Amino acid sequence: MADQIGAGRRGKAVERMAGIELGPREQLRCVIIGAGMAGLLAGIRLKEKGDQFVIYEKGDKVGGTWRENRYPGLTCDVPAHAYTYSFAPNPEWSQFYAPGPEIQHYFERIADDYGIREHIRFGVEVGACRYSEGRWHITLSDGSTDVADVVIAATGVLHHPKMPDIPGLDSFAGDCFHSTRWDDTVPLDGRRIGVIGNGSTGVQIVSALSERASRLVHFQRSPQWIMPVQNFIYSETDRHAFRSDVSNIDAIRFGQDYWGGIRRFNAAIIDADSPEMAEIEAIVLRNLEESVTDPELREKLRPSYRAACKRLIYSPNYYAAVQRPNVFIETGAIERVEPEGVRMRDGTLHALDLLVLATGFHADRFVRPMIVTGRDGADLNQAWAVRPTAYYAITIPDFPNMFLLNGPTAPVGNFSLIDIAERQWAYIDQLLDLLRQGQCSAIAASHDALADYEERRIAAARHTIFGSGCTSWYLDAQGVPQTWPWSYDRFAEAMAAPKLSDFELA
Ligand code: NAP
Repeated sequence: MADQIGAGRRGKAVERMAGIELGPREQLRCVIIGAGMAGLLAGIRLKEKGDQFVIYEKGDKVGGTWRENRYPGLTCDVPAHAYTYSFAPNPEWSQFYAPGPEIQHYFERIADDYGIREHIRFGVEVGACRYSEGRWHITLSDGSTDVADVVIAATGVLHHPKMPDIPGLDSFAGDCFHSTRWDDTVPLDGRRIGVIGNGSTGVQIVSALSERASRLVHFQRSPQWIMPVQNFIYSETDRHAFRSDVSNIDAIRFGQDYWGGIRRFNAAIIDADSPEMAEIEAIVLRNLEESVTDPELREKLRPSYRAACKRLIYSPNYYAAVQRPNVFIETGAIERVEPEGVRMRDGTLHALDLLVLATGFHADRFVRPMIVTGRDGADLNQAWAVRPTAYYAITIPDFPNMFLLNGPTAPVGNFSLIDIAERQWAYIDQLLDLLRQGQCSAIAASHDALADYEERRIAAARHTIFGSGCTSWYLDAQGVPQTWPWSYDRFAEAMAAPKLSDFELA
């Protein structure tokens, strides 16, 4: 096998593609890791193709990020009708921007409607995947093992909570948890609450809790630009219209308002000097100037970096929330956490009953901490020693027949990740067809192809707005945005058909 996939790999591929048939397989056996949005999608598509598959899910429910995140105010800032599978529109969304629990309910229903639930093994974590003799050998947390032709890693991007390194955190006498480990038994009304972190999560939590806390302190290390949006409720009449004629949904999902916005936003982030970026900057600046009346507070909330450098926050109500008399924006440095609350470097103590850590995620993990061993003992941790990467975010040299959904360098930004995953699946499915048809038994991008992709991507990524001089989870350990740096349309084109000369087939 090692010889086959050596220097003459390209030639071998061409031979195979030229028609030296291996013979069609009866069925592929696939392991999908994760039953979130992307894992369910993979299951639905494999089922349609008649492949055998199992989904291993470490949690006890489907839904991924929507299962994990249950904090007050959780809303998806992509319009609900665009944040649905293209093949499963949902006329029942209650709002333009759907609340988290409704999205979770949607995925639960999809798992049932498409007969995916019976393929899922809940409470089972994949510990290791090892490629040997043309198949993936999978070690599971319950002590069992599995063998598959193909592994689909649908493990999500933001699911390893990042705890802040603040001295004394463990000494806090009140309740304290990360935003993604919300404890529903902890009371909120009338309490003194602190929220550390003002990314999309912290902003949503503060907006929701400002009316409930007796005092709410938002600890802000760096201010954020806020894009004003309006969330509106769909009436029963609206929903009736969605139910009776899907073109009413399509008008939102595929209409000019949504796609025009996506394309303008995309043009802005890939060209920081574009008129589209100037337009975004003008909107967020006006929002700050016109919405925040107290000049002192306004200055606290004014970022010193460019709009959309960090993931742009869409909020209908954050500025209103922080202007309530019970809300305080703390911009000083945190010295330590004490049993009574948070002590600032200037000596101020914010006495608290509850401290929420909206401090984000380790965005570089992807399939890790799983141990993944590819061809000839290749170790994924080593392959990703500099940065996690994959050719077009999907395939990694030396890890044949392993495909990632929403893997490293996949489009991020304020897009619907469902749309991204569907396009990625269309691409992966064409590679799977080569396996299904017996045109090869192993396929992965070549080292040269990945190196070329990364060289072009990194050069372009440095010039996106994400590289314009701020910290964010978009940046890898080298300070390079780990993002798709080109247009959305270019992504769609790239996903339309794999360029087979960039692959090694065996
Ligand atoms: P995040 O964007 O990474 O924000 C983390 C926040 O915690 C930042 O404000 C950061 O400050 C702060 N922080 C981290 N460590 C700290 C420390 N030691 N002391 C003080 N502050 C600290 O995380 P997130 O808000 O959870 O959002 C992550 C991503 O999830 C979003 O960008 C988005 O992609 C996704 N999300 C999406 C939605 C949606 O509606 N679609 C909603 C929520 C989240 P600095 O900025 O100074 O580093």
